Amino acid sequence: MTASPCPCCGKALNVRADKRGHPYLTCADCGVNTLVHRKEGVEKFKARTGWTGGAAAPAEPEPKPPATGGGHAARRAGRA
Ligand SMILES: [Zn+2]
Repeated sequence: MTASPCPCCGKALNVRADKRGHPYLTCADCGVNTLVHRKEGVEKFKARTGWTGGAAAPAEPEPKPPATGGGHAARRAGRA
């Protein structure tokens, strides 16, 4: 799953997700690091490369079942 060539050696950069799920491109040979900071950039990167963020991307914790009648789960369900 690669996207862009290293500016130094031209090899494809490795793409990982940082802790916020932003794409983080690295070249192990050259030590090049590129992090996409902005949400706009992340969306464009995904659209261009098909990158999905990887399975390691931190997802929101699973909403707890409202077994005890808590009101938080219902509120969270509305957000996508
Ligand atoms: Zn390189």
